[in-house]
Amino acid sequence: MIRYGGCMEAHRTVSRRAFALGAVGVLAACSSTNNDPTTTTSGPEAAGGGLGPVPEFTGKLAPLVEGVTVPPDLPVTAPTLFRGVRLFDGEEVTEAADVILQGGLVAAVGAGLDEPDGVEVVDGAGHTLVPGMIDSHVHAFPQAQALAARFGVLTELDLFSVEGLSTQVDEQRTTGATDRADVFSATSMATAPDGHGTQFRVPIDTLTDPSQAVGWVEERVAEGAAYIKIVVESGFGWASLEQDTVAALVEAAHEHSLRAIIHAQSLEDTTIALSAPLDGLAHAPWDELPPDLVARIAEMGIFVVTTAGLAQPTRHKPALDDDRVMDRIDPGLLSSFRRASYATDATWAAMLPNLQALHSAGVSLLAGTDNSNPGTISGAGMLVELAILVEAGMTPVEAMASATSLPADTFGLADRGRIAEGLRGDVVLIEGDPTAEITDLHGVVGVWKWGVSVDLDVA
Ligand SMILES: [Zn+2]
Repeated sequence: MIRYGGCMEAHRTVSRRAFALGAVGVLAACSSTNNDPTTTTSGPEAAGGGLGPVPEFTGKLAPLVEGVTVPPDLPVTAPTLFRGVRLFDGEEVTEAADVILQGGLVAAVGAGLDEPDGVEVVDGAGHTLVPGMIDSHVHAFPQAQALAARFGVLTELDLFSVEGLSTQVDEQRTTGATDRADVFSATSMATAPDGHGTQFRVPIDTLTDPSQAVGWVEERVAEGAAYIKIVVESGFGWASLEQDTVAALVEAAHEHSLRAIIHAQSLEDTTIALSAPLDGLAHAPWDELPPDLVARIAEMGIFVVTTAGLAQPTRHKPALDDDRVMDRIDPGLLSSFRRASYATDATWAAMLPNLQALHSAGVSLLAGTDNSNPGTISGAGMLVELAILVEAGMTPVEAMASATSLPADTFGLADRGRIAEGLRGDVVLIEGDPTAEITDLHGVVGVWKWGVSVDLDVA
């Protein structure tokens, strides 16, 4: 049985020797470093040389969630009123607001609100209320989803593969699964035989020909995939999908109104990815992007999931020195968070300029951790990710939007990502002011999912 989503599994099986030798791809699980000079293309000419005309997709993509449906078996709890709290509603900040959660939803947002019968009042002075966060790149498993919820990450977008997906989705619909983050999943990933992704001891149907794309995508649809993940990874000796197979997969995903998300990290692979009308990149590249690739990404209007924490050497991560964060993480998962195995000074040197350039070009950057690869972790990894986005030049409010309203809009998660009347009662109470100082997000003092209070202690 898949216990850990792909990446984690790989790290548990790799030998130290393999590691020392550069891991030959085994560690290049979901995030492959591109430090191997034989596989890295650099410079605008090399990267841009393969860019053809901008591909277009003019059809419609289905929302992941069309509207608000309160789970029928949601636990019944008293209403909660946050009185005089600083409110980040997903886009804007209000200095002193009242917010009422009732019946699973945000029942009211305003000032001087009347107290409903039986209400529990939370004094919001000195605190900030933010929407339940969305992690746009994870490899989910139940323990990680519970961990996510303790840090206010209440939705995880899995990119291969989650244990017991259909059971989890059923619980999300019926009880609200209020002890853990919701999960949506790509279920599997499209890759070549001996391609990246085949190392996880999880059966994967590989592709060798574009004619297989339609059937492959239909199988994912039958499994309940929320979007399609495609791997273009030629580094570390991996076999990679041909460009025409990538194009056929993207087209097949779009036939089902599903988003096509491509893993590509080197400039060469990113160029192949950008030859198809994809919807988003699963990672911000780890090689410094030349201006023509940045312009191409912006022109295509696609999103980029950041996964920058993996590229960041451990010494930069303030969350690792904060007991408020570390004490809330399952002891068995801590070592992975502390060990940023992929990151080097070079990956970090490329990451910040890439994020800056993409952000300046107006590209939608979605905060995603790629947990539980080493160097990140479910929940707490999001705190690291958002701090990096601020370091890359975003305002704290922009960074928090990349984990709330922006992914909600991008994926059509119509019921969440904002604090507004009628939406899900998914909120996070922070001691301090993350709209001014992003690391104040370390001070999570309360989380409510569907209006139900989440237990913040390690189980
Ligand atoms: Zn991944």
